[in-house]
Amino acid sequence: MQLNAWKAASILLFTSGWLASATNPLTPAKIVADITTDELYRVLRSLNSIAKKNGGTRAFGTPGYKASVDYVLERAQTRFATEMDTHVQNLTFTYDETREIKVTGPAGENVFVVSPQYNPATPLPGGIVAPLINTPVNDVTGSMCLPEQWEGIDATGKLALVKRGICAVSAKLKLAKAHGALGVILYNQTPGEVISTPTLGAENIGLLVPTGIIPLDVASAWIPRLAAGETLTVKLLVDAIAEERETWNVISETKAGDPNKVIMLGAHLDSVLAGPGINDDGSGTAALLELMGSVKKYRGFPHKIRFAWWAAEEAGLIGSTYYAEHLSEAEADKIKFYFNYDMIGSPYPIFEISKSDNSGVGSELLDKFLTAAGKNVTYGEFDGRSDYVGFSELGIPIATLFTGEGENDPCYHQACDNLDNINWDAITINTKAAANALGTLALSLDGVPARNPPAPALRGRSKLHHKSQSWATVAQKGIESKFPSV
Ligand SMILES: [Zn+2]
Repeated sequence: MQLNAWKAASILLFTSGWLASATNPLTPAKIVADITTDELYRVLRSLNSIAKKNGGTRAFGTPGYKASVDYVLERAQTRFATEMDTHVQNLTFTYDETREIKVTGPAGENVFVVSPQYNPATPLPGGIVAPLINTPVNDVTGSMCLPEQWEGIDATGKLALVKRGICAVSAKLKLAKAHGALGVILYNQTPGEVISTPTLGAENIGLLVPTGIIPLDVASAWIPRLAAGETLTVKLLVDAIAEERETWNVISETKAGDPNKVIMLGAHLDSVLAGPGINDDGSGTAALLELMGSVKKYRGFPHKIRFAWWAAEEAGLIGSTYYAEHLSEAEADKIKFYFNYDMIGSPYPIFEISKSDNSGVGSELLDKFLTAAGKNVTYGEFDGRSDYVGFSELGIPIATLFTGEGENDPCYHQACDNLDNINWDAITINTKAAANALGTLALSLDGVPARNPPAPALRGRSKLHHKSQSWATVAQKGIESKFPSV
């Protein structure tokens, strides 16, 4: 009797539990409630320790990135296998790293120096030791940007001292090589040691001489001495590598929902080489993982939810651009909205939304939620500096959240972008705002404008060529938005 009663009760419990999980309908409020600071913290602590175990970085082309992919797969592919379909998209891109750069002045002094992306290596271990040759300055057309500016200059066997600015650094280095220079000492246009990193472009590998970018003040002291006929011998040493490396986007979508109506969310999974990338973009990565952990519990949502963790964003939006460019028109049509979450936990946050012209209710949902939570929402330019560029090229409606760099994140792209570099209130409220917007669009596309497809792709034989050309063009745009070429 007692046993029977227990049995009956347990069957009832089991049945109602099963019914609940089979029919528990998704609502925006439930996903919002599922998001907790503790769980976001747990993910970021794991990403931080992944970086610690792998030389302090989770950058594209390093073991720390591979470990980050495995961490996402442990949830998406292993634990949530019943609810999520997950695949890994392989791609390769040129990995670039300046391992050491050194400029030694005429008195043997070490000079502050910055290396551009894709800087060619000098001979090692000695570097280039050569006399400096000064070159004319032109602040209108740019210094040493045009072939005629090099006319009559024989830089053979020398290091050319050239002013930065106006045209691409690579253009100056190409002309320097043509005029016999062994390398270029490039000086910045503004005084001080805050020198931005340009890219020379992966497409210029093999065409350029090595360079080091030094402060204006240092060059200003050398130029009158050169003008007076003094010989200044300088050393430039660049130890750099550039090689193709494999990398991976992780794409995971709910089994539930109409495959023709997809709500997509993206965050980049890589960091810069300099640090563990906990705000940039561990914060977005954690948000997506927690949102996935929530939505997989529910049923009854008509639209499919797709999460993407992008590869090699910091190398120039490479993974997301590759994904977007390899979508067919039909597949692009199925993506009804794209949300991008890159840096959503800056220690001194702003609450900045950027959106496409056809963002409609998508960005309004983020705005209303944050405003209701007492945050001062601002709007940023759609400046092409994160993974939405490929989706923007496809005309897909987009909204993004961003909590700022610079004074908002003093550890931006540095080793100190670690667990201490997060505003826990900001990451939590932003993930909840993302939850509300996701939950709403998963149920209804009311107020979501249609995609603005670009001009129809060329048909027939030329189509493939066009496709790869356009991937190269978009990738170049992404690279230049991360690293200006000038
Ligand atoms: Zn980022």
